[in-house]
Amino acid sequence: MDCRSVRRSWRGAPTPENRVTQGPGGRDTHGMSSAPVRFRDPRSTKYDFLDSMLVRCPRCERIAHVVQQPCQEPNPALFAPRHLVCRSCGLSRTCAGRSFSLRYGSADLARDPYFHVPLWLQTRTRHGGLWAYNLAHLDLISRFVAADLRERAPWYETGRKMTLVARLPAWMKSAKNRDEVLRAVDRLRATVIAPG
Ligand SMILES: [Zn+2]
Repeated sequence: MDCRSVRRSWRGAPTPENRVTQGPGGRDTHGMSSAPVRFRDPRSTKYDFLDSMLVRCPRCERIAHVVQQPCQEPNPALFAPRHLVCRSCGLSRTCAGRSFSLRYGSADLARDPYFHVPLWLQTRTRHGGLWAYNLAHLDLISRFVAADLRERAPWYETGRKMTLVARLPAWMKSAKNRDEVLRAVDRLRATVIAPG
C-alpha cells in the first residue's frame, strides 16, 4: 500500500506552494548534476501533512492509515472527519475531527493528533527522536537534511508562521549528524515498503 496514492486521491494535485517532490524511491528528482544539492523551503507546516498519516494499528500493530474524509464545508481541512483504517485486520474507526491536538504523545512516542495512536514513521537516533506523519513529510525532512544549500522562506523564523523545517531540532540540522539522520530516514521508509 502506497500512502502517496491515498494522499493524492484526497488532496488532488499539489499546489506549487506546498509541492513536495516525490521522485522514484521517494528521492528528490532535482540535483542530478554534481552541483550542490539545494533545498528551497516549500513553507510547509506540520498542518500540511494531516490529511493522510501512517499510524500503528491499535489492534494488530501493523501499518494503518488515518485519512481525511471528504467534507463540503468551506474550510474543512483541519477539522474534517478522520478515518482510521487498517488493511491488515480490518479495523475501521472514525473521528468527528472537530478538534485535534498537536500535543500528542511524548518525546519518546509521537502520536497522531486525532486518534492519538502512535505514528508509524518514528525512530530514535542517538540525538533524539525522528518522526513524520507520512512519506511526503519524511521526504521533506530528508531533502532538507541532505541539502548542501538551504534557502529559507521569508518568514523562516517569524513566530506562528515558522515553517516545518525551521522547527526541526538543531541536531537534525547539523551537518555532522547528516548521515545518521538519513540512515534513520531510510530505515523508516523501508518499513512502509515492506511493513514489519
Ligand atoms: Zn490492524
